[in-house]
Amino acid sequence: MKIYLSLITAALALSACGQEAAKPADNAAPAAEQAAPAASEAAPEAASPAAEAPAASAEAAPAAANVSEECKVVINSDDAMKFDTKEITLKSSCSTALLTLKHTGKMPKAAMGHNIVVTKAADKDGVLADGAAAGVDADYLKAGDERVVAATKMIGGGEEASVEIPVAKLEKGTEYAFFCSFPGHSAMMTGTLKVAD
Ligand code: ZN
Repeated sequence: MKIYLSLITAALALSACGQEAAKPADNAAPAAEQAAPAASEAAPEAASPAAEAPAASAEAAPAAANVSEECKVVINSDDAMKFDTKEITLKSSCSTALLTLKHTGKMPKAAMGHNIVVTKAADKDGVLADGAAAGVDADYLKAGDERVVAATKMIGGGEEASVEIPVAKLEKGTEYAFFCSFPGHSAMMTGTLKVAD
């Protein structure tokens, strides 16, 4: 029973950490394998919980793991205040898409922070205005803004962030926009997002 509970605790801890937990968990498996030959028969048993950890993590965090490749979108951004695309098209067959923003620049978040915010095109200006008022500590987004369909956290150079987009909840025929909510950036860092068959 104690072992069972500790596994659940481990799974909860992994899910709480989300994707950032995935890499350490993956790394734990080879380490456990290395430990096995060194010790006696007790080692394989001791190692097994660690080896199973990645699987438990995948179940607990359906986020990235269950999104198929065709439902993943990667957008690059840089120190020149640009996204590398002006249009995102999501397949309607994807109930959920995983949007990943990478910042290939070197400047820190405070000076050249980027995020990706998705809203209806008609809501963009209002979300930006309220986001600017919310300030840097709020990643320039109003807390609980219901107009926001999805938003990554704000990142600086060398970082990346992902967010799930509930494609099934998007309205076909409605124009959506994506943009960076860092003050002033949306003039250049913006584009359209649509769902297509
Ligand atoms: Zn930005």
